[in-house]
Formats: sequence, structure tokens, C-alpha cells
Amino acid sequence: MTAIEQDTVASVHYTGTFPDSGEEFDSSRGGEPLTFLVGHKGMIPGFEREVMGAKSGDSRTFTLEPDDAYGMPSDELVQEVPREMFPEDMPLDLGMMLMSDGGPFRIVAITDNTVRCDFNNSMAGKTLHFEVEVMDVRAATPDELAHGHAHGPGGHHHHNEPDAEKDDDCGDDCC
Ligand code: ZN
Repeated sequence: MTAIEQDTVASVHYTGTFPDSGEEFDSSRGGEPLTFLVGHKGMIPGFEREVMGAKSGDSRTFTLEPDDAYGMPSDELVQEVPREMFPEDMPLDLGMMLMSDGGPFRIVAITDNTVRCDFNNSMAGKTLHFEVEVMDVRAATPDELAHGHAHGPGGHHHHNEPDAEKDDDCGDDCC
């Protein structure tokens, strides 16, 4: 039976909680398992490290410090943006999450002229607890290794490649 290692594709069910409060922040239970290509930076580093060597049916429980998860928040990712950069009729509220070309950000302060935008991942600085159950492990296909992500259920879907010639051409829906 295949064990999770570099260049395998793992499917896992997981539940993530904050160890302090026990509050659940994410879970795959009740939906498709999470499917990912191992060793291609698709996952937070500690998560992959902790499931290495696990086989289908194995469970792992572990707690990750921020450095092994989403890192620490950085002041450099908090930026003052002129108010006029936002559409005039857009209501802006503290704590609001918005999307930009540079990724999602949260509004942390508003003045008459500027909006302070925090681009840090909302999970940055947090210690995370995971319960993981391995559902399936298989070798990655050459296409998956070339693309750097898993295909198929729970992974990336390519809708525009009926023709095998295009197998190594990532479509628009591909990261
Ligand atoms: Zn792909």
C-alpha cells in the first residue's frame, strides 16, 4: 500500500480547530476529502510533514505552531491605500474582507483619506490543531507533477482539454 511521500497524491478528511478555544475553523467532513499533491508547496509545511508515511486508513492528530502553518503576520503586509482607490459608492467597514489583484485583504482602519488594508492571511500567527484521516494515497501522474497540483475529484478540474494533446496545458481554471 502506498504511503504518503514526495510526489504522491493524498486524499484526506481533516478537521482543524484552534487549540485554545476548541473552535473549528475548517473541516472537509461532510464533503469531498481534500486531495493534494505532496511536496509541491500546495499545503502548509507542517501539515505535509505530519502526514508523511501515513497510509490509507491511518489517522494523525497534531498541533502546528504558526511557523509550520501560515507564518507570523508581517507589518509590511499592512498598507495604507488612498480612499479614492475604492469606488466612491462602495461602503467600507472595519473588518470587511475584500479581494484585490494582490489577494484578499481585511480593512483594519478607515480615515477620511486613507484605508488601512491588512493583506496578512487571516490564519497568520495562529496555532492550529488538526485531526486527519487518510482516505487514499496514490502515485502522482506525470501531468500532475508537471502542473504542480492534483487532478481529479477534490483536485483541479480541467474542463477544456478533451483532446489529449492539451494535457500539459493548464486551462484558465488552473492556478
Ligand atoms: Zn493542472
